[in-house]
Amino acid sequence: MTLRPLHHALGDRVEEIPFTASDGTELGLCRVAPEDGATDRPAVLILHGLTASADMFTLPETRNLVDVLLDAGYEPWLLDWRGSCRLPYNEGRVRYTFDDVALYDIPEAVSLIRERIDGRELLVVAHCIGAMCLSLSMAAGLVPGLAGVVAQGVFLTPKMSWKTRARLHFGGELLRSRLVNIPTDFKKVGLWSKHSLIFAEVSLGAECKDPNCQILNNDSWGVGGSLFEHDNLDDVTHDRLADLYGTVPMWILPHLRSIELAHTMMRYNDADGRYDALPKNALDNAGKFDIPLMLLSGSDNRFWYDSNELCHDVLTRRYPEMDVRYVEVPGYGHLDTFIGRNAALDVFGHIVDFLDECRSVNATAVRE
Ligand SMILES: [Zn+2]
Repeated sequence: MTLRPLHHALGDRVEEIPFTASDGTELGLCRVAPEDGATDRPAVLILHGLTASADMFTLPETRNLVDVLLDAGYEPWLLDWRGSCRLPYNEGRVRYTFDDVALYDIPEAVSLIRERIDGRELLVVAHCIGAMCLSLSMAAGLVPGLAGVVAQGVFLTPKMSWKTRARLHFGGELLRSRLVNIPTDFKKVGLWSKHSLIFAEVSLGAECKDPNCQILNNDSWGVGGSLFEHDNLDDVTHDRLADLYGTVPMWILPHLRSIELAHTMMRYNDADGRYDALPKNALDNAGKFDIPLMLLSGSDNRFWYDSNELCHDVLTRRYPEMDVRYVEVPGYGHLDTFIGRNAALDVFGHIVDFLDECRSVNATAVRE
């Protein structure tokens, strides 16, 4: 299997690490080496959301998260977990649930990185469903010893709008019986296909004429909501949206529906003993989290809305001793917190400040 090449301006500093999960699924993992060749930096694992890929963190047209982490003294690692649009099998019918990501992809990537970083600190910055899956890995105790975690958009307590919830539960079932996935790239659909009606629906009332933008920004894959603040994107990023976000699989909807209904990250596979290591309800195990946690969200997130603020409220009430904070970025939606043209100025500073703080806390603990 060949991953679609990572789109970046990092030259030969991107080191691809062959990585196949223990269930046989081929994934993508790469390390970005600092310009000075340093090998003593804390490592940061970065996780994308569903249908996205590591590409969203290396946009050459903006100052991206990888650039900022490198300049701040970190060693970025990028995982393309099995929901990545860089993995060619996601255009087909390969099926998985978020349980697989939590059980295989994230813990095994963490183990592989640990083999390479020789006792150095490892922190995680996770986005959207990558963050939800990480919460399930953490609740299962499968990724112990992380130095700090940033979760963007959503983490343990997913919550959508009533409109999205209704469409996901009723319309989603209808679509699931007819479609394997919903594409983002209108060029792959054409004017007359079983997907055309969805593109027609998401164009209603849209200010932007780009169908690939409409399906993300005006009515996310027909389930309602919006994935970014339009004015926050660079024009080049706007025109690359179909490369950055791939097809949405319909067969993932039952798991998504179960966790959204419960407003908590849930294991889906109850009858398969392979998944017994995962807790049924991740929130019930959150008291075991013993690392600093930063929940981040744009003030105008119109997909996950106030999920992370809710998560902060729930965690601080249930576990008052937990080191958890909530940071809201004014004027940002969901995806633009990472792909926005000014995200380095408005968002990434919060992330770096938090990671720096985690390092100093750990350094103090080691000295004591
Ligand atoms: Zn647009």
